[in-house]
Amino acid sequence: MKKCNEKDEGACVKCGTCNTVCPVYLATGNEIHTPRGKQHLKFRIEKGEVSAHYAEIFSQCLLCGACLESCPRGLDTPGLVIGVRSELPRLSGLSFLKYVSRRALVHPSLLSNLTRIGAAANSLLGDWLPQESGLRLRLQNFEQEAFKLPAKGYIEKLKTESAKGEEGKESRQKQSLSFFTGCLANHLQPEIAESTQLLAAKTTGCKAGVPLEQTCCGMAALAAGRVGEARELAKKNIRAFEENDFPILTSCSSCYYQLQSYKELLGGDPKWRERAVRFAERLQEFSTFFLEKFSAQIDTLTAADISGQKVFYHDPCHLRFKLHITKEPRQLIKLLPGIELQELPNGPQCCGHGGLFQVAHPELGQLVRDRPMDDFAGLSAQIVLTACSGCLLQWQRGLATGAKGGKAEHLAVFITRLL
Ligand code: SF4
Ligand code: SF4
Repeated sequence: MKKCNEKDEGACVKCGTCNTVCPVYLATGNEIHTPRGKQHLKFRIEKGEVSAHYAEIFSQCLLCGACLESCPRGLDTPGLVIGVRSELPRLSGLSFLKYVSRRALVHPSLLSNLTRIGAAANSLLGDWLPQESGLRLRLQNFEQEAFKLPAKGYIEKLKTESAKGEEGKESRQKQSLSFFTGCLANHLQPEIAESTQLLAAKTTGCKAGVPLEQTCCGMAALAAGRVGEARELAKKNIRAFEENDFPILTSCSSCYYQLQSYKELLGGDPKWRERAVRFAERLQEFSTFFLEKFSAQIDTLTAADISGQKVFYHDPCHLRFKLHITKEPRQLIKLLPGIELQELPNGPQCCGHGGLFQVAHPELGQLVRDRPMDDFAGLSAQIVLTACSGCLLQWQRGLATGAKGGKAEHLAVFITRLL
């Protein structure tokens, strides 16, 4: 597709194609949520017409990428949204994150969530999760009881073992891979990291080393418009993984997308451009990596009797729209003998998490989530599989409170259970 000049006020022809795919607009039917409306406002902002209401409008976007994928003019509305969020302090004197916390003051459910977090979960968000973790922001809207907290983060545990010289026998295994854990697997659901490690060891015969200085991928910082902070996190990760040149395996789809985007994020920095490109070339997406590994060895790897298990695979938007990785996870699941993979009758849909979107607009997030949840309720499958940390949290929360029941699992945890 030939991209038009986005600076041209007539670039958006108001055709409305993007409206037909925007999950927020589809859930609310409100024109204020349309991508084309944001394209229109961009020029109002450029003319200096800024209203405080704009912070709200530009916060109501999941950054899912569906509109960019569908726009016949190639207009990058998610990029525009991040740009406006980063400009908010200059435009209205209010940063995106300040907007989110002020919104909490007038929104009862957000306020009670934040209060409860402040009072009861101080140890979780106060000391336990590092400041730079995007998970801090995403967790603000979840009840602490929804999680069984590990005593220590996954990497923290490895650091302690390494300091005491108590590494497990796997640490003496030959290394052929490096592993980027992501915040969810590192801090909250370490079984994802453990399962991924186990699968890597079983299929390659080598361990996936974990560089101990790695940090949050920076997606939440970028979504909040904190571009400088996202760049610093990117540099820290690149540095951490330069201890060798092994392929870098990731277990979170959104982290994978963000790590890939370092080459654009640091593309304007001559000191980092090449390093970011080399880093991106080493990245391995979870399902693509294991599809290749499992294809040759599935008969020797599966032991449990799994026939008759019905599952549904949820496409994370970052893989579906931005990287077009939709076949590989399905092919990987279908390799498992006896598994029945079911699809939603209306096709794949956004789950409504969208990182900070769920924090700022829990009610809208739930509205978006209701559509795939209602469709899932009509399936006989009881298990939702995905490989994105945000989608996983969103489905776990939805299924825990929904009428159907069922459970959501990371692909790595599910497959490990079957081996
Ligand atoms: S699809 Fe593109 S050109 Fe059409 S209304 Fe949406 S942003 Fe404008
Ligand atoms: S990125 Fe997604 S949520 Fe945001 S405007 Fe586009 S389609 Fe709507």
